[in-house]
Amino acid sequence: MSMRFTILGSSSSGNCSLLVTEHCKVLIDAGYSGKQLCKLLQSVGESIEQIDAVFITHEHSDHASGIRGLSKFQHLEFYANRETAKAVQSKLTKRPTWKLFETGTTFEFRDLEVTSFSIPHDAYDPVGFVFKNGNGDLFTPYRSLAWATDLGYVSELVRERIRHVDVLVLEANHDADMLNEDTKRPWSVKQRIIGRHGHLSNRAAKELLDSMEEPWWKKVYLAHLSKDCNSVEKVAATVTNGKNHRRSYDITVVPPGETLPSFEI
Ligand SMILES: [Zn+2]
Ligand SMILES: [Zn+2]
Repeated sequence: MSMRFTILGSSSSGNCSLLVTEHCKVLIDAGYSGKQLCKLLQSVGESIEQIDAVFITHEHSDHASGIRGLSKFQHLEFYANRETAKAVQSKLTKRPTWKLFETGTTFEFRDLEVTSFSIPHDAYDPVGFVFKNGNGDLFTPYRSLAWATDLGYVSELVRERIRHVDVLVLEANHDADMLNEDTKRPWSVKQRIIGRHGHLSNRAAKELLDSMEEPWWKKVYLAHLSKDCNSVEKVAATVTNGKNHRRSYDITVVPPGETLPSFEI
């Protein structure tokens, strides 16, 4: 069996995706309330009772706010590094089942091989993930997915980790002009967003796609769009602009707050 991947929702105000293999069902981030997450799962024919674990990239509320509500489901295991778990736990009364990993290590969860990698972002110890499944033989070839949102720039490490995967989820957070003209955000917040530990702009995402040599990608999701300072059209126009618009992989821009159809990896 292949892996099935579903983005339940992604934007700068909430992120959660579902990854299903033959032997497990896991969530990547839990950036909606527990109630909303249960509803989102129901909308794709799943339920929280069937979920085995939640992998948390970092403590920001658009990735971790659902842990409070989900902590009442005692069968759930929450995978995070120590700093992230500590930051989330400090705001909780209950203690969910934390499973700690060291940033940069690879470990197994059921039939998944999980690798975390450090990303440049203004959180305690933010990570991206690579999830890999299969034996590498004819019948169960390796399938893999990389998750890289919330990064101020693309480091060499990130570039290396995301290159050889079938599916990439990459941040395209803001359009630089829209952010610049935005009247809701004070100057200091804008500086944080565009800084080395902020968020990737559409242009930065495009530059990464264009400069990656021989990626294995079949599909790239551009996700974590800002609701105010970006649009699906802006992202699409940016990535298709220029001579590199013929790509060997499919690109899907994720509309903020929408659940996407599942993708078989
Ligand atoms: Zn975020
Ligand atoms: Zn963040």
